[in-house]
Amino acid sequence: MELLSQKVAIVTGGSRGIGRAIVETFAREGAKVLFTATSVLSSEMIESLNSIGAHYHFVRADASSFSAANEVVNACVEKFGRIDVLVNNAGITRDNLLMRMTEAEWDAVIGVNLKSVFNLTKAVQPVMLKQRAGSIINLSSIVGLGGNVGQANYAASKAGIIGFTKSVAKEIGSRNIRCNAIAPGLIDTDMTQKLTEELRDTLTKSIALRRMGVPEDVAKVALFLASDLSQYITGQVIGCDGGM
Ligand code: NDP
Repeated sequence: MELLSQKVAIVTGGSRGIGRAIVETFAREGAKVLFTATSVLSSEMIESLNSIGAHYHFVRADASSFSAANEVVNACVEKFGRIDVLVNNAGITRDNLLMRMTEAEWDAVIGVNLKSVFNLTKAVQPVMLKQRAGSIINLSSIVGLGGNVGQANYAASKAGIIGFTKSVAKEIGSRNIRCNAIAPGLIDTDMTQKLTEELRDTLTKSIALRRMGVPEDVAKVALFLASDLSQYITGQVIGCDGGM
């Protein structure tokens, strides 16, 4: 049984890491997926999507841009006719101790990680209200719950996402639109490749399951939240951290 047949999803930052795993998982489960990134799409990913018979559309767009969000939503409605699921996944890090953190590092992270969630959620809202159905999934982080040295900007953006998620869940739950967050722990992607091997090893020792997560671990949680299996779940933050 395909869990997402007849459903249309938008995934921001879908070209690598967790976003890519979500795009591929959703496509395998029968969804039509529009996804974004700021770089050109690799021919390797195009081939991979074609090989699984995915129905997809790629739009090059900066998730931190308010006007681009409307263009993404319009492109999705034009191409696929509706929007059932929005995954706000695009994210970056600009780590630094607060003492050294520049205004540009703060603004970049808040813009891409937090303002993007406002941009896209606001843009899909009229479409989902008209449909009287929808599932919005925001990528927060364990760091948004507990903070982390050198990541005041990132932690603030991810904690902000949690407040946003819970508020939106309350605002539009009566219209059958759900809004939840996922809080991944340490997942093996380009983002965490930046950490030293020593730090990755130390962090892995603090994980109950004694391994880093893989993007597919998070994609499975997104699949659950996107599908009707989670139809009575909203305003939640679901951890996906191996017991970190
Ligand atoms: P990656 O760095 O591997 O991938 C990020 C994706 O976002 C890429 O497709 C990138 O493409 C895209 N992206 C970056 N900036 C923008 C932008 N301005 N507009 C649109 N797309 C953009 O990250 P991960 O897969 O590791 O992380 C995905 C999400 O999960 C993030 O929100 C992250 O904070 C969160 N997360 C990750 C954890 C981890 O351990 N990896 C842990 C907890 C949370 P391009 O560069 O071409 O724009």
